[in-house]
Amino acid sequence: MTKNILPQTPYAEVIGDPIAHSKSPLIHKFWLEKLAMEADYRACHVSAAELPGYIEQRSADPDWRGCNVTIPHKIAMLDLVADPGGVREKIGAMNTIVRQADGSLMGTNTDAAGFLAPIADSDWSRKHAVVIGAGGAARAVLFALKQAGIGEITIVARNGLKATGLLVQASVKGGVLPMDARLPKADLLINASPLGMTGKPPLEVDLDPLPGDALVYDLVYAPLETKLLRAAKKRELAVVDGLDMLIGQAALAFELFFGATPPMEHDEELRKLLVAG
Ligand code: NAP
Repeated sequence: MTKNILPQTPYAEVIGDPIAHSKSPLIHKFWLEKLAMEADYRACHVSAAELPGYIEQRSADPDWRGCNVTIPHKIAMLDLVADPGGVREKIGAMNTIVRQADGSLMGTNTDAAGFLAPIADSDWSRKHAVVIGAGGAARAVLFALKQAGIGEITIVARNGLKATGLLVQASVKGGVLPMDARLPKADLLINASPLGMTGKPPLEVDLDPLPGDALVYDLVYAPLETKLLRAAKKRELAVVDGLDMLIGQAALAFELFFGATPPMEHDEELRKLLVAG
């Protein structure tokens, strides 16, 4: 967790344990380069035991603009920094920490807005969404869908109690189904579980109950085209892949760290880099 860059260079980081797999440095460095900004973004391995010390050390460093937070620190962060937006109650996890000019730190969650960005043009009121998984990403998804005015949410999860808790916290109408249940007729299907990720089993789900105008959104981005998205495309359903959310949440964090809007006109080039790397 040593700082190892030129002094006076503003920088931000992504922290987690493990951290080597993170795509965040590639995204932020791509934008910094396109904007010709003198700043840096790097991955920093921080274990759970090191987290309080990391926060104390970095908050005293005026060059440090903040950090993105990944597994396993998204919940622990709630107790370490200010929460002006009420993220604890609304989502229950922080993924972005920003250092203010006076050295104080505030946390927020850009996953929810990043998730919503690619589907924000549609009207989701009175619509039915199915969310697979009941972990950290599902929390952000439920909050975002609630914000978008969703009519009803069904959570498909192996832990029914946890899923019910999420529905209650998000205060949305809905229900919970086990993993092997037949999907209900829904307008939006979201995979917020790691199923389908490289190294994990595929998500086995029958898409037949979905109507022809349903949208299938997979948060998994490695691989980019999961078995779920392939099946959805075969049925000619609209699809959104995990890179859209990844880039969307990073864009919001970039603005908070560096005070500049990312050059989104280069999105296609960035997507190609992310797929290749
Ligand atoms: P997480 O907090 O560990 O939650 C994973 C959820 O999936 C949990 O509810 C877990 O069940 C469930 N699950 C895991 N393995 C399962 C299995 N074999 N069968 C059934 N359910 C299973 O992880 P997360 O942070 O929510 O991330 C979930 C996925 O979203 C990951 O693939 C991650 O890469 C992706 N993600 C993508 C983005 C993006 O920007 N595109 C952002 C965040 C996350 P239990 O509750 O029973 O443990």
